[in-house]
Amino acid sequence: MDIRVGDRLKLKKPHPCGSYLWLTLRIGMDFRVRCEGCGHEVMLPREKVEKRIRRVIRDGVEINPNAAGNPLKPSEAETKRSGRE
Ligand SMILES: [Zn+2]
Repeated sequence: MDIRVGDRLKLKKPHPCGSYLWLTLRIGMDFRVRCEGCGHEVMLPREKVEKRIRRVIRDGVEINPNAAGNPLKPSEAETKRSGRE
């Protein structure tokens, strides 16, 4: 999964303060993230963070990190349809 420092992570479950958004401060074996609701900072193993991510917000744009490794192939779908009818 492609996560960068400065990305905002929208997680599946909210922090006790009610915020779903976390800002990534440091990336490595562990991620250091800050809750955007209350400013609480935590270190979490990469694996745990990735399992909890619903969306990644980069430069104000929401991206689906799970779609990155599994790109759609519109060209393939097109070729199957062409030629008939
Ligand atoms: Zn919080």
